[in-house]
Amino acid sequence: MLKGENNLQLLDQPKRIVITTHHKPDGDALGSSLGLYHWLKAKGHHVEVVLSSDFPDFLDWIPGREDVIIYPKEQEKSEKLLQEAELIFCLDYSALSRTNILEPLIQKATGQKWMIDHHLDPEDFAQLSYWDSNAAATAQLAYTFITEVCKDATAITHEIATCLYTGIMTDTGSFRFRSTTAAVHHIIASLIEAGARNWEIHEKVYNSGTESRLNFLGYCLLNCLVVIEEYNTALFAISKEDLAKFKVSTGDTEGLVNYALSIKGIRLAGLFVDRTELIKLSLRSTGDIPCNEICKKYFNGGGHLNASGGSSSASLAEVVEKFKSILPEYKEILTK
Ligand code: 5GP
Ligand code: MN
Repeated sequence: MLKGENNLQLLDQPKRIVITTHHKPDGDALGSSLGLYHWLKAKGHHVEVVLSSDFPDFLDWIPGREDVIIYPKEQEKSEKLLQEAELIFCLDYSALSRTNILEPLIQKATGQKWMIDHHLDPEDFAQLSYWDSNAAATAQLAYTFITEVCKDATAITHEIATCLYTGIMTDTGSFRFRSTTAAVHHIIASLIEAGARNWEIHEKVYNSGTESRLNFLGYCLLNCLVVIEEYNTALFAISKEDLAKFKVSTGDTEGLVNYALSIKGIRLAGLFVDRTELIKLSLRSTGDIPCNEICKKYFNGGGHLNASGGSSSASLAEVVEKFKSILPEYKEILTK
């Protein structure tokens, strides 16, 4: 769905543009942001990507990453850029709170806000929104924004293609999830034609771990997994001591929750991580089990039907107990 189309003419002249995305950006958040960044820059705009936090090590090769501004490291510069921006892109989020410390700055900014996103229940803060909850990734929407909405298909360089490929690949679990339609594969084919080196991207993202990350995975599989057979549910609960012991950094817990879901018969999987200031949780499910409803109703979060997240300020044990206590409500759907 495209709303506020008449604002598109803003891009006809060079503009001061800031691209923002959600806190702790994943492959789709950073990939779509940098894909759009390269495109806008080539069109003559002054563009900066401002992040609320660092990005994971497995993305520390993606074209344009060295240009990214990380708010906690360059506070004054970021504030000035947001204040002076004529246009702020809001990518891979549709609730301003997901930008964490950037939220008040974006709220205060007077530039137009353009949202490109695929999450459910978007807030109404943008002058232009290009939104589709069926899209596999925001990077997919960034692609069709450039090629269909702005009719600029020939502008896809190998850098743009690499960034967008990374976003779609990571958000679809390497083209495994239900969201991976034929249309997604067509886009992926176009991105490869435009110069995305698919095999290299897979290698860079998935074969870039450290020994301690692998040790951490082994530790979690052996010590932190809880299977609740009655409800076809499995979860990992990771304490802050566990994180410290393995020097776990941003992104190291990524994908862990899928191991819980890989057990035969398990239909709902959870990952609960004590990030000190908050317990962060990730839920994954199969079929119609609504992770997003659970996260929204009980854990101050949301997301997609089969992949959602949330947080809580209670203790790790309390959050896990709370999660277990809501399973009976979903018993029918979990065991059918
Ligand atoms: P992850 O479990 O990988 O952190 O997040 C999976 C999905 O859940 C994200 O793509 C995002 O849609 C959603 N999500 C994660 N954390 C939050 C949160 O705190 N609030 C909301 N509304 N959605 C979240
Ligand atoms: Mn996404």
